[in-house]
Amino acid sequence: MNVKIFCPQCGKTGVKLFSGLCRSCFIEKTCLINIPEEIDIIICTHCGSIQKKGRWMDSGLSLEDIVIETIYEYVEIDDSASDVAISVKILTIRGSIFECLVNVKAHVMDEILIQEFLVEVKVNKSVCTVCSKFSSGYYEAVIQMRADSRLISDDEIGTADKIVRDKIERLSNKNRMAYISQRVEMKEGIDYYVGSYKAARKLTETLRNVFGGVLKDSPRLMGRDKTKGKDLYRIWFSLRLPQFQKYDFVKYNNVKTQVLNFDANKIYLKALDSSATISVAWRDYEKLKLIARKDDIKLAMVTAKTPQLIQILHPDTYQPVDIELNDELRHLHIGDELKVVEIDNILYVI
Ligand SMILES: [Zn+2]
Ligand SMILES: [Zn+2]
Repeated sequence: MNVKIFCPQCGKTGVKLFSGLCRSCFIEKTCLINIPEEIDIIICTHCGSIQKKGRWMDSGLSLEDIVIETIYEYVEIDDSASDVAISVKILTIRGSIFECLVNVKAHVMDEILIQEFLVEVKVNKSVCTVCSKFSSGYYEAVIQMRADSRLISDDEIGTADKIVRDKIERLSNKNRMAYISQRVEMKEGIDYYVGSYKAARKLTETLRNVFGGVLKDSPRLMGRDKTKGKDLYRIWFSLRLPQFQKYDFVKYNNVKTQVLNFDANKIYLKALDSSATISVAWRDYEKLKLIARKDDIKLAMVTAKTPQLIQILHPDTYQPVDIELNDELRHLHIGDELKVVEIDNILYVI
C-alpha cells in the first residue's frame, strides 16, 4: 500500500512532516515564547520589596525595572527555538498598569523568526510583612545598656549609636527584620528595640567587644500566638558597663592593679607593684573594686638617685619620697618627671 504523506495545513504532498506539518507550516505556526497576557505584581509602598510566590523579597530596582524583570521571569521559551534574543519595552503607563511589548528573535529550523507579544503588567500596592511589623513598632528584643554605679557618658552613647547604626546596616542586607524600631535615651542609659532577636544578639556581642561589661539576658512572656499555638517571648539583653574605664585602678584579690584593656571576654590588669599582668573573666567582675581613676595620675619630679633608690617629690605635699630602683626606673635622671598615683598613702610609679 502506498501512503501519501501530505501537510494538512497547506496540502503539500511528498514532504517531511514536523509535528504533523510541513517545514514552512511548522515554522509559521511556531510561537517562540509562552507568556501570559496579564501579569500581577504586588509591591510594598514603603520599602519597594516585591512579593513573589507568596514571599517578600528585596528588589532594589526602580518600578520600571521591576516590571521588565518580572516579564523576563514569566517567559517560557518554545523547545523548537534556539539562539533566542528577547527585549522588553514599556509602551505606556496608565496608573498602575504597564503595557509592554516583548520582542523575540530566534532561530527555528535555521530560519530567523521575529515575533512580538503584548503584555499588561498591573502593579498592586501593599505593605510587606516587615514594613507592617516595623510601622506597628514590633520588636523581638531589647538591648539595655547601663553602667555600674555611674551614669553612662555621652561619649559611650555616641559610640554605641555608631556601632548599632553600622552593624544594623550590615545585618539588614541579609535579615530584613534587622531594624531598630525604637531608641530610648534616658539618664541612666540607653535602650534599643530590635526587630529581630538574632540581630539583637549579634549587636550585643559587637557592643560587648568594645565596652566589655556584664551581660544578662532574660525572656519576658508577652502573650500567645494563637495561630501557631506558641508562647510569645521577648528577650531583654541587659549589658552593664563596668564602673571603671581603661587606665583606672582596681583592686583584685588584694592586688592593686591598673586596667590596661578589656574585651567581650576578659579584663586585662597590670599589678602596680610587680608589673605582672592578670586577666579576669567578666563573671568575676564583682571581685574588682575601683580604687583610683586615671585622672588621679600625677607627675612627680626625680630629685635624687642612688644605686638602690630614686627620690621623687610628692606631687601634692612636695615631700621627698624614696622609691626602690628597678629595671623600669633605672634609666631615669635627676630632673625627669614620672607618672605616679597615690593609693592608700602609697605612691606607685605608673
Ligand atoms: Zn504545510
Ligand atoms: Zn516593605
